[in-house]
Amino acid sequence: MNVYDSERIMESLSENGYKQTNNLNESDLIIFNTCHIREKAAEKLYSDIGRLKKIRKEKKIIVAGCVAQAEDKEIIQRMPEVDLVIGPQTYHKIPELVSKLNKKIKYVETDFPIENKFDLLKERVRSEKKPSAFLTIQEGCDKFCTFCVVPYTRGAEYSRTAKELVEETKQLLSQGVSEITLLGQNVNAYHGEGLNGGISNLANLIYELSKLAGLERIRYTTNHPVDVNQELIDAHRDIKKLMPYIHLPIQSGSNRILKLMNRKHTCEEYIEIIEKIRNARSDIALSSDFITGFPGETDKDFELTIDLVKKIKYAQAYSFNYSPRPGTPSADYEKQIPQNIKSERLKLLQDILKQQQLEFNDQSKGKIISILVERKGREINQLVGKTPYMQSVFFKNIENKSKIGDFVDVKIDTIKVNNLSGELVEYSR
Ligand code: SAH
Ligand code: SF4
Repeated sequence: MNVYDSERIMESLSENGYKQTNNLNESDLIIFNTCHIREKAAEKLYSDIGRLKKIRKEKKIIVAGCVAQAEDKEIIQRMPEVDLVIGPQTYHKIPELVSKLNKKIKYVETDFPIENKFDLLKERVRSEKKPSAFLTIQEGCDKFCTFCVVPYTRGAEYSRTAKELVEETKQLLSQGVSEITLLGQNVNAYHGEGLNGGISNLANLIYELSKLAGLERIRYTTNHPVDVNQELIDAHRDIKKLMPYIHLPIQSGSNRILKLMNRKHTCEEYIEIIEKIRNARSDIALSSDFITGFPGETDKDFELTIDLVKKIKYAQAYSFNYSPRPGTPSADYEKQIPQNIKSERLKLLQDILKQQQLEFNDQSKGKIISILVERKGREINQLVGKTPYMQSVFFKNIENKSKIGDFVDVKIDTIKVNNLSGELVEYSR
């Protein structure tokens, strides 16, 4: 979501005459769009600003995103060179505030405003013409898992209207986009105003978007198991443009830990959902998030996580050491787990997840798969794209037959954990 927010911030600053550069020395304004989900992500802000020591006095510096929301004025106390601290709900104000910056007055904007930033942002004009785009449809969370900062930094659950989302998708399509990923901290809790009034759920919205000509692939992330309904499962069977991939985090395979996390479901219920999804779309790629070393997690609890992973068999997954976040209930729980045990468990889990990813990828060997070409590779004449299952595929662009934005057929011959490679078979668009 920070990638999406950063794009929108950059688009809105074009009215102040700013252009994006990756060269720090030639920049006038530096924006850090930050994540607060784990301590490591938050600390990165201070080390990154620290690294600007030689130039930061002459540059205007903005800290945006969730660290800005959570740490507020403290950021300016710790890093006096920062000019503006602005939370994720107010970034539509950046162009106006930037025009006032003069290196003398500091601004802090972390209130949750009454106005809606999405109504005030400009039309989409992406500076980089990539074929795949993000689209935030939902923000915030009302679930309050005991480890998580999202309900505090992104605020209460909010869904955009189907009308504005169809409009934004059309703008993206007119700029060469053919794949969109619908975003939300709890994307499947989406409940925006529908095109014909009433409430639209995520499946309804996907169905409406799938009617748009030029849109070939639809994805969505990230989900909460409690909000998966039958319509969403059916959508995976019925809507061809909906890609066969679902990210459905469980965090732990122990019901005792799920309860302490306030996840609101059991492992058995999760497995039942997975079975229904697989019945609707047998080839679906499954992904999840896991936390190792949540306070009170015993060896037995961790074994249950491993058992669950072995039972489900994921196509890929993200896993993290538990990171106590200030202000969240579990940060004050007794029985915090020592770092070395958290890391040992994480390593064991990741070894199994990697093996499963390799086994999932291995099923592609010898098959001809449709790839959306996204970028150039490192090697000469090499292109990189994605399969419907979110795997990256490298291939040689023989006789320059294809280009970024094309759909091509590639015959897969080499399998690795994180990517596949193969030979261009046919130019299909
Ligand atoms: N809404 C999604 C998750 C969004 S946060 C869900 O409910 O599953 C993205 C991921 O970050 C989470 O799934 C979790 O695995 C991880 N995460 C969040 N807080 C964390 C913490 N305090 N320590 C470690 N990982 C955390
Ligand atoms: Fe955080 Fe997801 Fe739980 Fe919401 S549902 S509190 S975003 S982990």
